[in-house]
Amino acid sequence: MAYCASRFHTVRRPTREVIVGSVGVGGDNPIRVQSMTTSDTQDVAATVRQSVALAEVGCEIVRVTAPNVQAARCLKEIRSGLTAAGFGGVPLVADIHFLPQAAMEAVEHVEKVRVNPGNYADKKRFAVRDYSDADYERELQRLHEAFSPLVRRSKELGRSMRIGTNHGSLSDRIMNRYGDSPLGMVESALEFLRIAESHGYREIILSMKSSNPKVMIEAYRLLVERMGAEDMHYPLHLGVTEAGDGEDGRIKGAIGIGSLLFDGLGDTIRVSLTEDSVYEIPVARALADKAMSLWRGAPAGAPGSDSIDPFHFERRSTAALRLGSSDAGPEQPPRVIVRAAGPGQVAAALRELASPRLKDNPAEGLLVPIGTAADLDLLRGALAEPAAAIGFLALELAPGVAIAAVEPFLASAGPGAGIVRRFGGADGAALSEWAGLARRTGGVLFVDAPPSAIRDLRETLRSLGDGSLAVTCSDFPAEDAGHSVGAYRRIVEELKAAASRAPVWIRNTADTAVRGDNSFLSRLIEASVLTGSLLCDGVGDIVSFETEPDPARAARVTYNLLQGAGSRISKAEFVACPSCGRTLFDLQTTTQRIRAQTAHLKGVKIAIMGCIVNGPGEMADADFGYVGGAPGKINLYVGKQCVQYNVPQADADARLIALIKEHKKWAEPEPAHA
Ligand code: SF4
Repeated sequence: MAYCASRFHTVRRPTREVIVGSVGVGGDNPIRVQSMTTSDTQDVAATVRQSVALAEVGCEIVRVTAPNVQAARCLKEIRSGLTAAGFGGVPLVADIHFLPQAAMEAVEHVEKVRVNPGNYADKKRFAVRDYSDADYERELQRLHEAFSPLVRRSKELGRSMRIGTNHGSLSDRIMNRYGDSPLGMVESALEFLRIAESHGYREIILSMKSSNPKVMIEAYRLLVERMGAEDMHYPLHLGVTEAGDGEDGRIKGAIGIGSLLFDGLGDTIRVSLTEDSVYEIPVARALADKAMSLWRGAPAGAPGSDSIDPFHFERRSTAALRLGSSDAGPEQPPRVIVRAAGPGQVAAALRELASPRLKDNPAEGLLVPIGTAADLDLLRGALAEPAAAIGFLALELAPGVAIAAVEPFLASAGPGAGIVRRFGGADGAALSEWAGLARRTGGVLFVDAPPSAIRDLRETLRSLGDGSLAVTCSDFPAEDAGHSVGAYRRIVEELKAAASRAPVWIRNTADTAVRGDNSFLSRLIEASVLTGSLLCDGVGDIVSFETEPDPARAARVTYNLLQGAGSRISKAEFVACPSCGRTLFDLQTTTQRIRAQTAHLKGVKIAIMGCIVNGPGEMADADFGYVGGAPGKINLYVGKQCVQYNVPQADADARLIALIKEHKKWAEPEPAHA
């Protein structure tokens, strides 16, 4: 089952070209960046203003919600307003949920219509029932009748369409037959696609969004695989819904979108943030540019796929590794290492890492570059300071540092100290010697090598066995892989061939990065894509974000990367929708206010949704939900269950906290949080 040409190089998936107004999507076109307005669509002036602002910062396609026929009618004026402002070439997309009548009106005015197959002409009742084949067929027939007029009109007018499935709003029909699963999401889109094709209409783009990057990645992969089997080549719109705001929102978006882009999938992208829409564009632009810079064919003879099942998550089985006071391996969450710039900076780094603010984000290991034997003396001095508590030390040795110089240091450092050393394919003898040192001193050898070297060292690795070895890759040659995700995937394959279960340390370094400026955003995106892609494949036991020079910030971001990939929970999780013209309260301030009161509730997941469209579905795995029910009124959820309707907004925060307390998930904030 293949969903992409290569998991090691970025080979763009060939698709048909779909024309949205005057903007081509898919085919040979660049990845298109898009976003959505958040104003009330019937406030035409505000919506035109937001559309212009988006176009001015490089948004190539603008989506506007059309929650009813009146709003859909306003799209005509919005289209004229945007054209009059000089952006006639920027297509508009009407976002439709529930109402075919709104879609029929919108298609007259804008270049593209997005329908949600989970709720187009379907009312969601969360009914659990068995659908016999005859029942199911009847439902499909009803759908055919409801959807066909839009397809026919789109064809007549030369409009394009997005069939946009959301994990959070699958129909009862799909939920009952396929469950709340990537397969259900794919089937939901294919039902609509087949209806469109029955009318000879193919101007379609597809999406499979979820707030959970793992679910979203699997759903897109499965969709492509299923479309390939049916000889369908429609372009993809990529997005992670309800990603939230700030660093966490950017991380989640980059994990889900970036992982697929690196595999050559994706023709237009939207990064959803609970912020003003214009802030989405630089993130999307950076992701698209990085991916497009990787587009090229895989070298002749390069493998296409690996042995991981890309459609089902399973964590790679590794040996356990003793790392000072914390272990790494199959039973442990991925461990966090931060890097000091050199032995002279260790004392300051340790003081910073000892801050109570990092109580929930402790650096578990410290990586220290050692250039000469004299650096070991410097390090010894720094470690003698009282604040020098760290789980384990990893010494990154320059090639000239000899075993004889390191052995006394390791012997006195206690068990679990590690050596990181670069090895080439011809360094089998050196690898054995350094592994011997690690064993003698009760430490760990981190083998830093590119995939081709791991291949050449296969027999040595096999003979050394597991127990005191881990593998990492701080740099790799272009012949080995087209990108760092591919390099680590190849390493995992080479380890498998060597029967090695050595844990893998994902290092985000300047040399594993694709390209771009040295801005924090660029480094954050790089780290999110590399770390998140691998963790969502089940690979990764230790992680470091080494392109961040501030050790405390590096630790905090690394925990956020782990949380974004769902691999390690260190704080409360917020699922917040980006808001749109349906939003019933100010999402940005509400999200910030609720976060300020609940961020310390480690492991508690709170969904904040502007309306009911994606609310209950996206909250499937949230513990509590805060959802716009009516203007000024909030519905509060526990899990999927609405337990309080129409709570006045002024009381809703307190009632939410009371609910959290009632369900024994509350803890008083500690002074550092307060
Ligand atoms: S959940 Fe949020 S973004 Fe989605 S339709 Fe409702 S208000 Fe708009």
